[in-house]
Amino acid sequence: MRLVGIDLGGTAIKAGAIRADGTLLERRQIPTQLERGAEDLLDRMAQLVRELGFEGRAGIGSPGLIDARGGRVLQSPNLACLERVNLLAGLARRLGVEPGALALENDANAAAYGEHWLGRGRNEQDFLLVTLGTGVGGGLILGGELYAGPGGMAGEVGHMVVDPRGPRCGCGRLGCLETLASATAAMRRAEESGLGTDLSALAQAARRAAGAERELLREVGCDLGRGLASVVTLLDLRCFVIGGGFGAALDTLVEGAQSGLAERCFGERVDTVRILPAELGADAGWIGAARLKHPSRRI
Ligand SMILES: [Zn+2]
Repeated sequence: MRLVGIDLGGTAIKAGAIRADGTLLERRQIPTQLERGAEDLLDRMAQLVRELGFEGRAGIGSPGLIDARGGRVLQSPNLACLERVNLLAGLARRLGVEPGALALENDANAAAYGEHWLGRGRNEQDFLLVTLGTGVGGGLILGGELYAGPGGMAGEVGHMVVDPRGPRCGCGRLGCLETLASATAAMRRAEESGLGTDLSALAQAARRAAGAERELLREVGCDLGRGLASVVTLLDLRCFVIGGGFGAALDTLVEGAQSGLAERCFGERVDTVRILPAELGADAGWIGAARLKHPSRRI
C-alpha cells in the first residue's frame, strides 16, 4: 500500500509517498503560504495528497500542541491560522474519506516515529529523538511505540528547565533547554563570545583545532547532556537520537553532552548511554507521519 506523509512547517510543506515496506516512492515540497488562510491551505494539502497517489491512508506532522484524537492543532505559534480548525475533518472531507483514515501528530513525534521505522532508531525499542533547530523538539519511543502521553505533550524536552537563571524562553520561563542548546541558542552564544553567527563556520573551526569554537560547542553540548540526564534518571533511557541543524558540529556537541550527562546523571549508567546522529534528515517528519495511524485505529 502507498502511504502519504506530510510534514507541515511554518514556511514549507514537505511531503512524500512511501510503500508500507519502506520503499521511498516520491518527495515533494511546496511553500506553506499561511497568509492565504486555513481553508486555502487545506485545499492545497488535499491536492498534494492526491498528487502523491493517495490510496486511503495519509498522516500529517505539525508543530505545536496537537489533539491527535480530535485531529486539531490546539496551539502552534508558527501555524496560528490552524488553531482550533479541525484539520483532519477538513482534509478528510476534501479527500472523500473518514477522518479516521488520516492521522495527525506533533512534528517531532512524527520524526521520532520515522527514525524508529527506517532511521537510526530502527533497532531501538526505547529512545528519545531530540531535534536541535530553531527550538528543541523531542519525540519519545517507548517499547517500540510512539509515546505522546494523555495530552500529547510527552517528550517536550525543549522546555525542561536546565538552568533556572538562564535566558528567557519563548514559553516565558527561564533557562529551558532550548534557550541553551538549540541551533539558535548556539548561534546567540557564539555571537556573545565574539565568534560570529555562522554555525557551519563554527563547526568547521571546531573540527580543525582545539580553540574557542570547540570550547563553545562543548559547552552547548554539556547543557544538552545536563538536560538529557533528567530523562535518563526518569526513564532509564540508554539511547538518544539527535537531529536538526548542527550537522558537522554534532561530534563536538556529543562530546560535551557526555560530560553533561556524567555530571548530572543518577546511578552508574552514563557509560551505557548512546547519543547517535539521526539518519533521515528532513525526511524523518513526513516518513513518520505516513506510517501513523489515527488513535482510534491503533492496536
Ligand atoms: Zn521554554
